[in-house]
Amino acid sequence: MIHQNKWEQRWHPLRGEWVIVSAHRQDRPWQGGKLPSPPPTPPPYDEKCFFCPGNPRISGVRNSAYQDVFVFNNDHPCVGPDAPRELDRPAGIYQNRPAVGMARVVCYSPKHNLSLGELGLSEIERLLIALRDQYAELGSHPDVSHVLVFENRGEVVGVSNPHPHCQIYATNFVFKIIETEARLCREHFAKTGRNLFQDILAAESEDGRRIIFENSSAVAFMPYFARYAYECFVAPKAMHSGLAELSAQELRDFAQALKMLLVRYDNLWRMPFPYVMTLHHAPTDGQDYSNFHFHIEFQPPLRKPNLLKYLAGPEIGGGNFLSDTLPEEKAQELRNLPDVHYKQEQA
Ligand SMILES: [Zn+2]
Ligand SMILES: [Zn+2]
Repeated sequence: MIHQNKWEQRWHPLRGEWVIVSAHRQDRPWQGGKLPSPPPTPPPYDEKCFFCPGNPRISGVRNSAYQDVFVFNNDHPCVGPDAPRELDRPAGIYQNRPAVGMARVVCYSPKHNLSLGELGLSEIERLLIALRDQYAELGSHPDVSHVLVFENRGEVVGVSNPHPHCQIYATNFVFKIIETEARLCREHFAKTGRNLFQDILAAESEDGRRIIFENSSAVAFMPYFARYAYECFVAPKAMHSGLAELSAQELRDFAQALKMLLVRYDNLWRMPFPYVMTLHHAPTDGQDYSNFHFHIEFQPPLRKPNLLKYLAGPEIGGGNFLSDTLPEEKAQELRNLPDVHYKQEQA
């Protein structure tokens, strides 16, 4: 039975949908050959960068000579306090409303040439603390229902500035994926009396093949129902609805699990590994999220160094994913990689 478990459908419990695993059509895992030439390593400071310390941004505002994590209001906000309040009413049943909210940028480090996985553990911890504080500040605003923190990394996901940074959108609505997860967690609890994410962690631990890294209180894993070839989650093992609930030790462990995953991502093809990273944090709209388990998700768009996962008929047209790879095989690739970043190897 060569094709066993290579051709099947897997249930995605956090989205409430099927993923078609169709890895029997896939050629073997990438085994060497020509890698695309990695982009030249940028300098630690770039005078043209809008995010480097002391430089003027596009708005003309000058960045401070910051030494650590640096947060500022996005100069091109998609939601903002200045969004037009007086809108034309659309026809018939259509609805609109002002695009109010807050959009911010968070620079991880003053160093232009570093990435999240190259930061030291204490720097990652300080970043998580800064994000926790942003969440508390923005989430306490009466108009804010949710705080979405995300990083787009790499030109294939539209980022041309390599300066390490993420973005925050504080919105008057809950982003769809978080809303769906929260609903499914609530329904699972009503049906079983158990927490859905705890059940996922238990199943991952029982199987074991997709765990990339774990320590006493945090885990990085590729979920059974991964939709992208290298999709991974990082989570605290205990039930916490957000970063603010993690103890100092849990925060340290979480930072380590995050780093261990990111280092493997970059080591996979010895190049900066593109991804979309999103913090899945409980909403701040005042409802009960005691069943929501905080975690970070990574959706990397590449299947191979030169090959994007194209979203087409099934994904864009139909709304369900077709996965061309087997999560157990892809997780194995990541597990086997060294845990020292290739740029930081001793010569
Ligand atoms: Zn920079
Ligand atoms: Zn999630």
